[in-house]
Formats: sequence, C-alpha cells, structure tokens
Amino acid sequence: MYLRSMLKKNVRILFRVASVCSFLIVWEVQARPNIVVPDVHRQIHARLQEEQENNALFQNMVDSINNLKKVEADEPFELYPALDLYTSWDDAHVDPLRDKAPIPIPAEKDIDLSHFVAPIKGRINSPYGWRRRRMHKGVDIQLYKGDTVRAAFSGRVRIRKFERRGYGYYLVLRHSNGLETVYGHLSRFLVNQDDLVTAGQPIALGGSTGRSTGPHLHLEFRFMGIAIDPAKILDLQTFEPRNPQYHFIAAVEQKAQMGKAGRDSRSRAGGKNTAASSGNAFHKVRKGDTLGSIARQYGTSVSKLCRLNGLRSGSTLRIGQKIRYR
Ligand SMILES: [Zn+2]
Repeated sequence: MYLRSMLKKNVRILFRVASVCSFLIVWEVQARPNIVVPDVHRQIHARLQEEQENNALFQNMVDSINNLKKVEADEPFELYPALDLYTSWDDAHVDPLRDKAPIPIPAEKDIDLSHFVAPIKGRINSPYGWRRRRMHKGVDIQLYKGDTVRAAFSGRVRIRKFERRGYGYYLVLRHSNGLETVYGHLSRFLVNQDDLVTAGQPIALGGSTGRSTGPHLHLEFRFMGIAIDPAKILDLQTFEPRNPQYHFIAAVEQKAQMGKAGRDSRSRAGGKNTAASSGNAFHKVRKGDTLGSIARQYGTSVSKLCRLNGLRSGSTLRIGQKIRYR
C-alpha cells in the first residue's frame, strides 16, 4: 500500500517535471528566432570580439618572439645577417657587390658550417666548373618537381625573383656566417623576400623553370659574391660539410672563379672554341651525338673521351648521358 502511494507520487512528480521541461523546450524553440539583440549589447559583443582578436595577435607575437629567442640561442641571429661584411641590403643582383663602390673582401675567413642542413639530397647532374662558354657557379642536384627545398642555414631572404633565361624562379638567402646561398629553377616559393628563415626550413618546391632541361636544384654557395665550389664545402655523396668550418682564402677563390673566365675570354678572342684546361667538364648527349662528334666539338680525341668515361670506342650513347670531356 505504502509502496503504491510512493509510486503514484513519483509518477506525479515525474509528470510535473516533464511538463515543465516541455514548456521550457517550447519556449526555447519559439523564443530563439525572435531574439533581438539590443544595439548596446551588439557593440559590447563587437568590442569583446575585437579584443579577442588582438589577444590572438598578441599571442602570435609572443610565440614568434619565443621562436626568435630559440633561434638566437641556437646560433647567432641577426636581423640583417652579416651586414658588417656586406654593408648593404638590397635585391639588385645575385652578386651583392656588383655595381657598388668597392668594399674590402676579407683576405681569409673561417666560415662556420656547423648549422648546415642539406637543401635537398640527390644525384649531382652537373658539377661546379667551366661548362663550354659559361662558368657553372653551383651544382645541379637532381630532384622531382615539387620536392621540398630547405634553407641551408638560418638567415634572411634577400632575393626572390624570376629569370626566364637563367635561374628561373630563384631565391638568394644571406646567412650570418657570411655565406649566401642561391637556389635556382624552383617551381614554387614558400617564403617571401625579407623573410627570416631557420636552417632546414622549407623555402621552396623544386622544379625546372628558367634555363633548365629537367627538374633539378641549382645550388650555389657564395661569399661576398664569389661562388665557391660546393664540392669543397660539402661531401656531395652524403651532403655533410667536409669540416665544421670552411677556410675561405680570397686569392684562391677569386682565381678559381675569375681565372677560368679570363682564359676563356682570351680563347674566344683568338676565335677558337677551346675549353679551359683545368677542372672537369661534361657534355650532355643529344640526339645524333657520337663520341667522334663530341671529341671534335671540344677539340679532344675519342680515345681521351673513352679514357675519361670508362667507355669503349664503339659504345652507344644514351640521350641525356653526361660525357666528361675534360
Ligand atoms: Zn646549375
């Protein structure tokens, strides 16, 4: 008896609760579409929202300050890297000293390589050195279009440009160790001019823009505009620096870069299409090429080509194959 009355009571309570709830639900459903926010409220809301956005901006700023501190702790950080050496910052030329009043180039300098990160690893398609009538001031590293290209060191983007007959889409970064690195034939930029970048940061996607016959990264290392043979800085098998420091000697580097150019202009003046005598040079096989025609083109002999490339005189050549002629 007692149990039954308790049950009845509970059911009544439940029913009452349910009816109140349904009333509330109905009120909610009806009231929602008709909510009119007073102007004052709306203004307060807008201000709060604005403040929230400012807070978000502030938070981002705090984050980037912390990031900069981290970078700074890792290696010396400069807003304009190596400005003491170069004395200026502009995007006029890849060679930053071109068309400028002469500034002293240190006779010798130890360049810190300890923070180096390989921009990309791959087969070397073409080494640094004299290539027919042009000096090839970097190495060509084979890649697939769209591959990530990374900053070799921390630094700042000095040039972000396009050169139809040359580098294609290219970047020049300046680093606090005094080096500048050049990245050519890119398909897409991932950084803007003047951006600060950290070593290893993706800066672009590889491609085949400009003077290029296939997807590759043209990579240069320059110090005060003088292009250094990347093979002297890096082991091009492992892409690790050969030493923690590179000992730059201006006289040696200038000779390596200018000496061949000087010889070439003399040989051109003499009307001969002869290659300079030092350094390796390669010919890319095109349709119709034979060892004989290549030998004639470079003023050498078939037997010498065979010796340099480990070939027999009757060997068939593949299109695109690199034949060393010097
Ligand atoms: Zn190249």
